[in-house]
Amino acid sequence: MSGSACLFLDRDGVINRERGEHTWRMEDFEILPEVATALGYAQGLGYKLVVITNQSGIGLGLYGHGEVRALHQHLAAELAKAGVRLDDVLYCPHHPSGGRCLCRKPGSLLFERAKARHGIDLGRSLMIGDRDRDMQAAAALGVRGVLVQANSALLNTIKRELRPA
Ligand SMILES: [Mg+2]
Ligand SMILES: [Zn+2]
Repeated sequence: MSGSACLFLDRDGVINRERGEHTWRMEDFEILPEVATALGYAQGLGYKLVVITNQSGIGLGLYGHGEVRALHQHLAAELAKAGVRLDDVLYCPHHPSGGRCLCRKPGSLLFERAKARHGIDLGRSLMIGDRDRDMQAAAALGVRGVLVQANSALLNTIKRELRPA
């Protein structure tokens, strides 16, 4: 076996409610129903769990790294209460107005970083996201993409798409 299978997840619209605007305040960060159950199910099948998210609000000056990290610590703590261990959350802080970067999806640099850091076998992994750019970033590295509607039921998607890793 050449590495671990991984479930890559977009954040806004997949893990927490997509509000149609930047989400950085704790009170606006609403974890969607059954997310912990869904991720626990995937972990039980042998998948690592890595969230990859564009957070261009940092580049815009709307919020800082501290706010983003606090949200992600909160998410990890909420999942831990359900016995789920989030392996990583990687984010691109850049806004396209500051020039193009390789980490903002549809760029795939953060997937490569996760692969190196966690020994992931991309060919046995998949990406769940709610935007075409999530699918493009995954496809560039041969990761199977599953496009879902924003704020849809993650548990249903995972039960339909995942087999034991
Ligand atoms: Mg999204
Ligand atoms: Zn970036």
